[in-house]
Amino acid sequence: MIKKENKKLVIIGGGYAGTTLIKQLKKSGNLDITLINETPFHLVQTDIHKYLCGDTPFEEIAFDLETYTKKNNAKFLCSKVNDIDFDKKEVKMDDSTLSYDYLVIATGAKSFFPRQIKNIEEYSQDIKEVDTLKNFKDDFAKLLNEKRSNKNIAIVGGGLSGIEIALEFAQKLKEKNISSDELSISLIEQLPDVLPNMDPYLVSNTSKACDDLGIKRFHGNFVSEVRDNKVFLSNKEEINFDLIFLVIGVSSVKFVTDENVKINVKNQFIVDEYLRLPNHKEVFVLGDVAETKDKEGKYILPTAQMAKLHGKLAAVNILNTVNGYDLTVNDLETKGVMIDLAGKNAVNLLGFVKLKGYMAYVVKRFISSLHTNMFK
Ligand SMILES: Cc1cc2nc3c(=O)[nH]c(=O)nc-3n(C[C@H](O)[C@H](O)[C@H](O)COP(=O)(O)OP(=O)(O)OC[C@H]3O[C@@H](n4cnc5c(N)ncnc54)[C@H](O)[C@@H]3O)c2cc1C
Repeated sequence: MIKKENKKLVIIGGGYAGTTLIKQLKKSGNLDITLINETPFHLVQTDIHKYLCGDTPFEEIAFDLETYTKKNNAKFLCSKVNDIDFDKKEVKMDDSTLSYDYLVIATGAKSFFPRQIKNIEEYSQDIKEVDTLKNFKDDFAKLLNEKRSNKNIAIVGGGLSGIEIALEFAQKLKEKNISSDELSISLIEQLPDVLPNMDPYLVSNTSKACDDLGIKRFHGNFVSEVRDNKVFLSNKEEINFDLIFLVIGVSSVKFVTDENVKINVKNQFIVDEYLRLPNHKEVFVLGDVAETKDKEGKYILPTAQMAKLHGKLAAVNILNTVNGYDLTVNDLETKGVMIDLAGKNAVNLLGFVKLKGYMAYVVKRFISSLHTNMFK
């Protein structure tokens, strides 16, 4: 009897979506799976703040993808994908191409630096990049130990990332008895409060945590320029800084030149109800790089949680495609939000369940460990 050849599945991106998909397909048997990632690591972005303040070692936030893929019966290629030829079914890298039967694009997003802020290029460093992250961590440690007054860390962006970084730094200053005259933390958010568009329960508990830890909050004015270690606000206020974090938002990177493939202004791919490209049904798009909407047609916020859910759904739908079964519709919704409020404090809103303090911290760490344990 002639043995049927395995189908080739290529996954671009070893983030939350890509690695979850690989784990789900571990026992599938009838697929040859290759993961391509531009770095050797899977970066646990949700714990970046714990690493930056020196509480978590690098090995706990960056996991080796070669080891991970081997453990899960897949191959790994450390390379950057520059384009995709959807008609020839080929992924293009610098010196080589790789053909596929099925393709998954899960390339995530990078930090977004709006050009409306004058001179922003000089300070555009992406915390999602490992080398930048390491430099930021060293710079923070250096600043803690430098004996001089009026030092300041400016964090621009009062969303989830900015908040968690600001609070973790402020907690470190408290633990080390460093006064705000010596080193202060300034959080700049143009909207009237932290965590724009989030539930009031999360907002009020997070604002209180910021105030309790002495974070200086600047609300209601946008940043117009960054120059000479100063942030200039639209009301002409100036904030000096020794270290600056621009965590204003994210946007995906456009790397596909095929004009027939539709993308939105954030370079996210427009997908069908099964997370596939509408005109290339063998291509699935997952995580931050996919534009998805809820039942009411509102855009779903891209999160690690959603990327993992996409990974699980895609595993089912890829196997169903290979085996000729019906596919499952994407009706995934965000299950909740969990925010670290520094140290062993957090606030969670999981459906109707509200949690804060130590219990919230324990639940957040438990959920996070479900992801990181995949790599251990
Ligand atoms: C500081 C911070 C805190 C966050 N906190 C939370 C939180 O508490 N909860 C939550 O749910 N979400 C949080 N998020 C968001 C979450 O991290 C993202 O939504 C999630 O990482 C998206 O997963 P993904 O798989 O789509 O992409 P990613 O995890 O970004 O992975 C994409 C991968 O693709 C690779 N790649 C990109 N382009 C190419 C290419 N051309 N060729 C080859 N490889 C490529 C990248 O190297 C990367 O490994 C946070 C993000 C940040 C930055």
